[in-house]
Amino acid sequence: AETAAAAPRMPAFDHVPLPYDGPSAAEIARKRAEYLSPSLFHFYSKPLNIVEGKRQYLYDEHGRRYLDAFAGIATVCCGHCHPDVVDAITAQARRLQHSTVLYLNHAIADFAEALASKLPGDLKVVFFTNSGTEANELAILMARLYTGSHDIISLRNSYHGNAAGTMGATAQKNWKFNIVQSGVHHAVNPDPYRGAFGSDAEKYARDVQEIIEFGTTGQVAGFISEAIQGVGGIVEVSPGYLPLAYEKVRNAGGLCIADEVQAGFARVGSHFWGFETHGVVPDIVTMAKGIGNGIPLGAVVTTPEIAQVLTRRCYFNTFGGNPLCTAGGLAVLKVLEKERLQENAFVVGSYLKDRLRGLQEKHEIIGDVRGTGFILGVELVTDRQLKTPAKEEICHAMEHMKDMGVLVGKGGFYGNVFRITPPLCFSKEDADFFVEVMDVALSKL
Ligand code: PLP
Repeated sequence: AETAAAAPRMPAFDHVPLPYDGPSAAEIARKRAEYLSPSLFHFYSKPLNIVEGKRQYLYDEHGRRYLDAFAGIATVCCGHCHPDVVDAITAQARRLQHSTVLYLNHAIADFAEALASKLPGDLKVVFFTNSGTEANELAILMARLYTGSHDIISLRNSYHGNAAGTMGATAQKNWKFNIVQSGVHHAVNPDPYRGAFGSDAEKYARDVQEIIEFGTTGQVAGFISEAIQGVGGIVEVSPGYLPLAYEKVRNAGGLCIADEVQAGFARVGSHFWGFETHGVVPDIVTMAKGIGNGIPLGAVVTTPEIAQVLTRRCYFNTFGGNPLCTAGGLAVLKVLEKERLQENAFVVGSYLKDRLRGLQEKHEIIGDVRGTGFILGVELVTDRQLKTPAKEEICHAMEHMKDMGVLVGKGGFYGNVFRITPPLCFSKEDADFFVEVMDVALSKL
């Protein structure tokens, strides 16, 4: 509690939602059922109609306010409709919406420079994409071109995207279709809670070595991993694992790719990037989500040497680096600095985690509390010993929380993990309210 008192002061919050005169939720639901892909799903029995967002709050068509602890899937980092970001996009839209990278424009160059300054070592060449999937597709392509090898190693339980290559790297049956996904090997997940070897980083790293020796020619293209698996249920890879895995992959000629789509951009609090918490420096870093605060934007950052591989052919992305997005991205970086949001994620995130641990003592159904900063997970189990996933219970709890004005995510292989990834301006008061509401929701089960 004392440390949370030292959290940076967030700007005063005083917001009256605009009057809503759009169609009713029932009308939107009808159109969605008729005209939008049936693959889309929603969390709640009665879907919410969200019409406005301001900082860490969302509003429905009745002006009802919800505390947003999911941030559009860990995406809205400096808060919904942050005025500085809105102003930057609007000003850019008035001047130039699109030109393509065929011409010079300062918005893309300025943002690339600012982004490079956030990365260590020689990681300074940026290629912009529109999503995390595209960024990871490109990273995998670069690793294959650079090394001349094809084999990629990813971690079981990971999520890296949903196009042909990234679906191969993604390692959860829930997210895979039966298409050819060649050349990807899935290493045993270094998951301290459910993993085969507990937190034994050496044993998990040995599995990477065995994949190289028994599943490939001995040479690999690369290794891709998140520092904290987001979709996989906020699984922090065991401490000490990444340096060992990187060493084995590099000895086999491969490049190491850090997928920072979810954990990056100040969310882990203690550092700007998730990989930094493991003391490694990747060869390629991919990002999306937080980079644009919700604007469709992704990026791959690598070294000048590796970036050369794309000059062998024409490689192009029509919208990647669009000035609206990059102007917004630059504003996001400035807001993160100005409002000390990384520090806030660290201080309030640590406080929230402590409070969630307190809840774990009270509620038998909480099997594990994990994560760091504002990427936290609470895993529900019906039996702590057997770790039986509480799949139904979590849905009821989310429903109760929504009714009390709090939105939270869920995920994990069994879908039984609360994913708490709020905008980074989430305050200590928000954390207290969140815990109170989760406490009541779990008591109702
Ligand atoms: N990588 C990670 C770690 C993700 O969490 C996601 C999406 O959730 C992706 C990649 C794919 O990003 P996108 O949905 O923007 O394609």
